[in-house]
Amino acid sequence: MGELKNCPVCGKVFVKVVKNLCPACIEAEEREFMEVRDYIKDNPGASVEEITTITGTEEKKILRWLREGRIEYTNSEGKLRPTCKSCGTPINVGNLCAKCAKELSSKINSMTSAGQKYNKSSDEGRDENSRRMYAAKRVRKD
Ligand SMILES: [Zn+2]
Ligand SMILES: [Zn+2]
Repeated sequence: MGELKNCPVCGKVFVKVVKNLCPACIEAEEREFMEVRDYIKDNPGASVEEITTITGTEEKKILRWLREGRIEYTNSEGKLRPTCKSCGTPINVGNLCAKCAKELSSKINSMTSAGQKYNKSSDEGRDENSRRMYAAKRVRKD
């Protein structure tokens, strides 16, 4: 079961399944995507302005598709390329460059192991409490 949401594009209420958009807007975006993809295919080297003007698609959408690896595009200026969200290095796909992705994953790893340690100690604490309660019950019962 999905949750009920308001579509951020058209405002209609819909059941969220996979995407954040209502089915009508997903379909519209899909059509837009194919238009952009075909335009880039037919006009390699077209400028970003050209693509956004002709297809009517916002630049940030095109950038998102680039990040998702759904379209490939490099023009002479190399302008429309996703950049690392952390250091700004141009990348081909995703949100982070290899260096920052590595740094982030090691950060996450150390956070996760710290979290595990924390959970473990609180679990032990709970066990200790329930043991004590159990013992208390037994004492009362006897
Ligand atoms: Zn919608
Ligand atoms: Zn980076």
